[in-house]
Amino acid sequence: MTFSLSAPLFVEVAVPLPIDHPFTYRVPAGEEPRAQVGVRVLVPFGRRKMTGLVTGITDASALDGREARDLIAFLDDTPYISPGHLGFLSAAARECLAPMGEMLRVALPRGLSRKEGPAAPRTETFYRTAPGPPPEGMTPKQRMVHDLIRETGGRSASDLSLRVRYGGEAARRMAAKGWLAAETRPRPVGLSVAHLPDSAGDLSPTPHQEAALARIGVAVSSRAHAAFVLHGVTGSGKTEVYLRAVEQVRATGRQAIFLVPEIALTPQLLGRVRSRFGDGVAVLHSGLTPAERAEQWRKVRAGEVSLCVGARSAVFSPFPALGLVIVDEEHDAAYKQEDGVRYQARDLALLRGRMESAVVLLGSATPSAESFHLGRTGEATLLTLRERIGASGMPAISVVDLKGRTGRRGADRYFSPELEAAVDETLARGEKAMLFLNRRGFASALTCLDCGTTVQCPNCQVALTYHREQGGLLCHYCNATRKEPESCAGCGGHRLAQVGIGTERLLSWVAKRWKEARVARLDSDVARRRGAYAEVLSGMQQGEVDILVGTQMIAKGHDFPEVTLVGVLLADLSLSFPDFRASERTFQILTQVAGRSGRGDRAGKVLLQTLSPESPCIRKVAEHDYDGFMEEELAAREAMGYPPFGRMLMLRLAGARQEGVREAADLVARELSGPLADRGVRILGPAPSPIARVRRRFHYQVLLVLPPGFPVGACFPDLLRPLREPVRRLGARLEPDVDPYQMMV
Ligand code: ADP
Ligand code: ZN
Repeated sequence: MTFSLSAPLFVEVAVPLPIDHPFTYRVPAGEEPRAQVGVRVLVPFGRRKMTGLVTGITDASALDGREARDLIAFLDDTPYISPGHLGFLSAAARECLAPMGEMLRVALPRGLSRKEGPAAPRTETFYRTAPGPPPEGMTPKQRMVHDLIRETGGRSASDLSLRVRYGGEAARRMAAKGWLAAETRPRPVGLSVAHLPDSAGDLSPTPHQEAALARIGVAVSSRAHAAFVLHGVTGSGKTEVYLRAVEQVRATGRQAIFLVPEIALTPQLLGRVRSRFGDGVAVLHSGLTPAERAEQWRKVRAGEVSLCVGARSAVFSPFPALGLVIVDEEHDAAYKQEDGVRYQARDLALLRGRMESAVVLLGSATPSAESFHLGRTGEATLLTLRERIGASGMPAISVVDLKGRTGRRGADRYFSPELEAAVDETLARGEKAMLFLNRRGFASALTCLDCGTTVQCPNCQVALTYHREQGGLLCHYCNATRKEPESCAGCGGHRLAQVGIGTERLLSWVAKRWKEARVARLDSDVARRRGAYAEVLSGMQQGEVDILVGTQMIAKGHDFPEVTLVGVLLADLSLSFPDFRASERTFQILTQVAGRSGRGDRAGKVLLQTLSPESPCIRKVAEHDYDGFMEEELAAREAMGYPPFGRMLMLRLAGARQEGVREAADLVARELSGPLADRGVRILGPAPSPIARVRRRFHYQVLLVLPPGFPVGACFPDLLRPLREPVRRLGARLEPDVDPYQMMV
């Protein structure tokens, strides 16, 4: 639009605050030519100054008679965010019911902050071998460190710590003795990645890969939006399809985003990406400093790289000409951001693909109900890779009924003779086993044998889990630790016993039962120790671990060819979660963990131990029948109007005073029931969240089940806006969560 030069000009500015509308400011006379959508501005806000982003240009008519203050300064000469990208971000904010300013905070590397040039680079210590013959009298660990350094001519402290426990520390002491030469240098931004020979790039695609790539290629060259669901069993060559699709897009001069659930868990994938595309790749991960992140972001925005790999927030990568978004393991719940702006990166990828005419490729061995449904309705094209690459085929899965085994006690209960024998046989053949149990810690709880009271977290009202390594009880919700109490809070008795089993206890049982075997454990407790995760993975890769025990961390995409047995200790552990996705999640996790078996040239075997062998979910896993499972699951969802047939909106209320939070929840449910009455909306609750009290705050929720296609983004901002103030006055905060994943707090 054009503006007459004599009339004052106004801009709409989003500020990084949880306020769901922009503010209008007057452009000082003479500055009008600098007013562009997407530039940053300094504005007065109350008594403060703030950096905001211009989201619109307007005239006095937008003020409706209100006063507008002058903005202080324009901070950019050219848009910091292109109009196209801004369009995507505001659509995303609308769909997530998030204020634009909050969305900008999530989507920009350091919010709107003006400091853009990289700050002083982070440094690291780099070690080389000292001249002369190797030092005498090294300990075995020092020798390992020395060998590693000699192998490559030099290594950084953090690299050494990743390979040898406390390796960096050992090198520091060796340097102090003059055994190594140390220097300080800027830390490179890349991730340390597994070194894998990437041979598949030179191989010709299989006929199935070829067929999938042909369909994708047509869409890529038409430069129009298209969505694909790539359903391929584990090891069927999906990653190879992704990488070649990226090549197709690069050939058209455009760029691609490659989303993975959690980047630290995918060193093998990063290794393949790096060896294929070299320096043309930006990597966004949580280990970057703000300055490093800003620098990666700048490269993306300038189109200096043509691929960006990252976790969910990489969906906001501001590429100038986006051609493709890949969502690997698209079913993974990690794509849902669970605080602040609650977005689902897979859904935003689809939104962005539509807005920017890009191809979206959703890949999984177990596509989500949502994506499977897109394939059935024709909104996405389903591509299938039915077979594993290589001779081995899918592992044979047998179900072991644990029911009649209550006679045994402790960890013994969880080992059927079948599983013990299978581990024996696997080890006898010199092969490896993985044992999966979806619960960390030592025992699941500490319970009074006299009155049955379980020791609970005083903050959260959930059972505490006994962790032997920490020598105490740990709350899995708030992470608080507590010493083991001497007596029961219920009856004062002294007979507290550990019930249930976690990975810690499982490992100690396994180590006793198979004394000769080399055993290791992988769960989030282990992974918290620096370098421990990489150490376990590299141990597996080198064949130094015979039995690996772990939680779902062991189920993710790893490729360990020597593993021929996967044992699932208790397959039904997650079936009873109060969540409509419980059955889908259980199917996915069991299929993923089963897929770790028999990836090399030897056939794999899987034992699923369960208390409910007749459950359809477990039966379908054993039959490798994804389609059959999904058909039943979708029928059940349709009957309830649950996603993907309807939509859900969870309105979460939290606050310090229970009474106030409950009143606020009542108010929200009451006020919405009128306007939503004739629109086919079911209002469930208000109810205290299943775990009503977390981190000393009370939580209530109102769950809305909406009919399919309900215009959430167009309708709810207006409905919720008048509720915010009364809710706030009751001492509560209202957080909308569109299509919630965590049905529990
Ligand atoms: P997925 O991502 O489905 O688990 P990958 O792409 O990792 O499967 O492929 C599994 C294995 O097969 C990898 O080792 C990969 O290098 C190899 N591979 C993939 N495509 C081919 C091909 N066309 N020919 C030979 N080997 C291949
Ligand atoms: Zn707690």
